[in-house]
Amino acid sequence: MAGLMTNASATNKAVLDRYMRLPQPDDKVMATYVWIDGTGEYVRAKTRTIDFIPKSPSELPIWNYDGSSTYQAEGSNSDVYLYPVAIYRDPFCLGNNRLVLCDTYKYNKRPTESNHRNSCLEAMKLAAEYEPWFGIEQEYTLLDNDLHPFGWPKNGFPGPQGPYYCGVGANKVFGRDIVEAHYRAALYAGVNISGTNAEVMPAQWEFQVGPCEGITMGDDLWMARYILHRVAEDFGVNVSLDPKPMKGEWNGAGAHCNFSTKAMREENGIAEIEKAIEKLSRCHVKHIKAYDPHEGKDNERRLTGRCETSSIHDFSAGVANRGCSIRVPRGVAEERKGYLEDRRPASNSDPYQVTEVVVRTTCLDQ
Ligand code: ADP
Ligand code: MN
Ligand code: MN
Ligand code: MN
Ligand code: MN
Repeated sequence: MAGLMTNASATNKAVLDRYMRLPQPDDKVMATYVWIDGTGEYVRAKTRTIDFIPKSPSELPIWNYDGSSTYQAEGSNSDVYLYPVAIYRDPFCLGNNRLVLCDTYKYNKRPTESNHRNSCLEAMKLAAEYEPWFGIEQEYTLLDNDLHPFGWPKNGFPGPQGPYYCGVGANKVFGRDIVEAHYRAALYAGVNISGTNAEVMPAQWEFQVGPCEGITMGDDLWMARYILHRVAEDFGVNVSLDPKPMKGEWNGAGAHCNFSTKAMREENGIAEIEKAIEKLSRCHVKHIKAYDPHEGKDNERRLTGRCETSSIHDFSAGVANRGCSIRVPRGVAEERKGYLEDRRPASNSDPYQVTEVVVRTTCLDQ
């Protein structure tokens, strides 16, 4: 039978559509608050009704949730606060409904352990005069409900890597519907999504967000991740941000961070790029610790020096070399200005942590 029920999300979407067409009262806005949970990798969300259309996050009420159910608090003192920080259009509920990105604070108003936005924002304010731009390439893997890659044979493996990257055709790429729905939904929401492509491992995909200045990089990427999980849920498919979902000669997943300052983008900016690379070379371990939610443990499985990665133990830099920690794109070397690419961040890295450490090392000399 086509459309066989394989999981609980496979309810009848045609019936759902009947209810979603019900007119919504003009003076009611559904605001879905989205936040990072205690894993530092997954997002949670809940919705409330607001009786005005919010123009800025500060107009929205501070809210709270049960942090003991998100690995963020003890049961006996479980309220965690949600502070709205950015507003997006809601591609799922449409109309005046909104997605509200929040950061999280404990009972004593201190940021929770997984709230890295707070200190990232401090760094971005200090570095504002450098006009730091970021573009992150988010790689991810689609998984079926048995947590095996989506579209892979159930009792074996697809043929070796080679035909899949930017591939076209039913035996080359798996799950394009999700990718296209996500792209459109992210654009609608107001995320600065700039592209997408199929990756080297089948069922692995990438989208890019950027260039974004300062704190917006983390905000837009987290909201893009929320939208991706939510779109995939509609299709009954799971998204994994694990940096090495399949062992062996299958490419892992990263979140390359492209970075520039105003000076790097100007004539002869290459000199500034080289200065930044020199500073980065002296802080390799500090960066590796900030490039996944487990201080390098997750990335250890990915940064092996094989499958287009550098070794986690060494710092290296090169023009057009995808086996380096830092790559200077060919076009940047030719034009002698532009940006650098830090290839080390894992796919499950927190963009607030990544962009903060990049700015502290290269701009603030910390
Ligand atoms: P790759 O060749 O590594 O696959 P992509 O095309 O996937 O590169 O991604 C390049 C990223 O670099 C995009 O997210 C883009 O927004 C970003 N980018 C482009 N120019 C700059 C810049 N001057 N500063 C920072 N990021 C930039
Ligand atoms: Mn309740
Ligand atoms: Mn890319
Ligand atoms: Mn890629
Ligand atoms: Mn890249």
